[in-house]
Amino acid sequence: MIASSRPDTRRNASPYLYGQETAAVARVLESGQYGHTDVTEEFERRVAGFLGVPDAVSVASGTAALHTALLAAGVGPGDEVIVPSMTFCATVQAILAVGATPRFVDIDPATLCVNDQLVMEAVTDTTAAVVPVLFGGRAVDLATVRNELAERAIVVIEDAAHAFGSHNGARRVGATGALTCFSFGPIKNLTCGQGGMTIPRTPEEADRIRQIRLLGVAQSQSERANITTYRVDTFGLRYQLSGINAAIGLAQLDHFDTTEHTRRRLWRTYQEALVPLDGVTLVDVDADHAVPHLCQVRVSHRDQVFAELRARDIGVGVHYPPNHLQPAFATWRRSLPTTEQAGEEILSLPFHPHLTETDIDRVVSALGKALKSAGAS
Ligand SMILES: *Cc1c(COP(=O)(O)O)cnc(C)c1O
Repeated sequence: MIASSRPDTRRNASPYLYGQETAAVARVLESGQYGHTDVTEEFERRVAGFLGVPDAVSVASGTAALHTALLAAGVGPGDEVIVPSMTFCATVQAILAVGATPRFVDIDPATLCVNDQLVMEAVTDTTAAVVPVLFGGRAVDLATVRNELAERAIVVIEDAAHAFGSHNGARRVGATGALTCFSFGPIKNLTCGQGGMTIPRTPEEADRIRQIRLLGVAQSQSERANITTYRVDTFGLRYQLSGINAAIGLAQLDHFDTTEHTRRRLWRTYQEALVPLDGVTLVDVDADHAVPHLCQVRVSHRDQVFAELRARDIGVGVHYPPNHLQPAFATWRRSLPTTEQAGEEILSLPFHPHLTETDIDRVVSALGKALKSAGAS
């Protein structure tokens, strides 16, 4: 860990570096090759090996992973995509990027994730895809959705931006057969600085995604070697993961067992410390399987509690203000009572691997005081 960068309880989230990232980036810079390089391909192989899948396709961000997955699955104008409103706005923007229509659905109050019933009720003749969000790292199992939608050629694209490393049963998220998208943004469970990864379902899908992320350029080895005669045969974007970013991810992956262990330990420490507090409902995570990404509670008078905590220099956050209430997405607004209530009550406590037990005590004690002064306990 780089000691000078140790943040405290003022930050809600933070990247966690192990020290090897700096030298790894320096090696790429010294090589003179900054774009998609051997380092990028090594990162793909290492992530595939870690997850236990045949292939993984890196891209420039989690948003790009969702965008390319939707494109590769053939989702476009006239198609409806079922998506929870309770997610980061990136999930919705990726759907709009392919010209499809988001169909917002409500969530299960216990998990803040969609469930089989909520998705199946929203399916119509124009549904082309479902994008469940593995909120907070929870590997929700949508067995009915998977089985029934496969028969109807509706693709399930998992937004696993929060869930790198989490298990779904015995397998890691990404290895369950779904088209899966990860983010390696600054504060995700594993960071590349910026980056993302798509886990394709078939070799053909992997090829399509690889072509889309390289501006639609056909890219056999011989064609790539000869830059004067490249061939563009599909729509695509500049979405590759640079070797600079991949080097950070590789160094992070070497220490992922520590990240995983630390996140679970800190989440459990929070859970125990929060039990005695009146007026707080913990948003549960199965920390035996998930790698917790957030530590969330539900409180009444949330905005006052939030302001009290910020006044005490505690870095609280809200994940997330519901998307169906955002101005940009007003066209697709509908009534989603559970999401709307959660949107008023959820509060994310500082949660990152730099925290100590003392930090957590300080946050929980401040939360107790904030609840009292806000009249929420
Ligand atoms: C971070 C995030 C994304 C987007 O990933 P980026 O790497 O930031 O583009 C998508 N969905 C969710 C739920 C996220 O948290």
